[in-house]
Amino acid sequence: MNAKELITQARTQQRTALDEHAGKSLLAEYGIAVPQSLTVKNPGEVDAAFAKLRPPLVLKIMSPDILHKSDAGGVKVGLQSVAEVKDAINAMAASPQIKAARIDGYLIEEMAPAGQEIVIGGLRDPYFGPLVMVGLGGIFVEVLRDVSFRICPITRIDAEEMLDELKGAAILAGARGRKPASRAAIVDALLKVGGENGLLMTHADDISEADINPMIVSDSAAVAVDARFILG
Ligand code: ADP
Ligand code: MG
Repeated sequence: MNAKELITQARTQQRTALDEHAGKSLLAEYGIAVPQSLTVKNPGEVDAAFAKLRPPLVLKIMSPDILHKSDAGGVKVGLQSVAEVKDAINAMAASPQIKAARIDGYLIEEMAPAGQEIVIGGLRDPYFGPLVMVGLGGIFVEVLRDVSFRICPITRIDAEEMLDELKGAAILAGARGRKPASRAAIVDALLKVGGENGLLMTHADDISEADINPMIVSDSAAVAVDARFILG
């Protein structure tokens, strides 16, 4: 399904957001790297899925009722075998928060290469239209609010300036023993999200909020490992 069809399907199902699998298909359509992934409904479907993916794998709960999957016990990384994936599904299904939620299924995906976590977001301003945001992952966004915004569409120069504005910009270059994160890969991803023919401009009528949290940036690639799109 293409982006428009995924959005239409979600609306038909009375959903206010795309599920993570659909969100990642949308990103992939715009050339943004996402992990190889599949969805399963139950442990019985794991053998077939496992054969198509390269471990280590990540298992995630898919539920319209669960926004922060980790907080609900709905993310398990580093799974090496079919048995580990099945066990993880059973453990998740037994957790109280997940038991209480509507479950669409389970997302199984490959691990992204190690790197630094950043966040790319989008939202729609009633006057200015789509805005794009970038920040460093984890505490930098959540506690320090070290983020930078622009009105879409952004140019390459805008994307570069957004990164320069971050107080923690030096960290991307590899401070304190961290591996450097590819600046070119981040700029490229920002343009694919917020540029002239980017995702936010193209779907301005449908997407009211976008959240890639995190995108994992190694010295050569930027992979979106979580994706949430809220439909307006
Ligand atoms: P949530 O934000 O809903 O808790 P995420 O999908 O962001 O769930 O996963 C939580 C964390 O697990 C991420 O911040 C990231 O550190 C790690 N993670 C998730 N998916 C992957 C992946 N495919 N490869 C590597 N790390 C991952
Ligand atoms: Mg996340």
